[in-house]
Amino acid sequence: MMTGGCLCGLVRYETNAEPVFAGHCYCRDCQRASGTGHVPFMVLPREAVKIDGETRTYRALGDSQLPTTRHFCPICGSLVFGEPEAAAGMVSVYAGTLDDPSVFEPQATIYTRSRPAWDHVMGELTEYETMPPPRDPQLSSPVGGGE
Ligand SMILES: [Zn+2]
Ligand SMILES: [Zn+2]
Repeated sequence: MMTGGCLCGLVRYETNAEPVFAGHCYCRDCQRASGTGHVPFMVLPREAVKIDGETRTYRALGDSQLPTTRHFCPICGSLVFGEPEAAAGMVSVYAGTLDDPSVFEPQATIYTRSRPAWDHVMGELTEYETMPPPRDPQLSSPVGGGE
């Protein structure tokens, strides 16, 4: 069971599912939305994640030319999860919101073409300049990132 939520506790989530993909996204949208160099995220089937609390949303057109809806807590502003239309039925949960962030196991970094020199993560991760290749449907557009 993984659980997590926003800074103030209004938005909470839990899931028993294993992520179908987990990684770090360096796209400019993630950088601006989070104010950081990258966003660590896990892709999960939407129906496997129970989410409580109303969110505020912001939709932006991703690199796939399909919008991604990012969900923020309306009180504290935490970026909690996203719904990329390019990966219908999936949700991207942002790993910094986990109650136990140590359960996050990233496999890859994506959008490394926008990675700043001051934000390299440790470890041997597969790197993709933008999205992983479309031949792997699970990896296609995990966050709907854009530039
Ligand atoms: Zn909150
Ligand atoms: Zn991104």
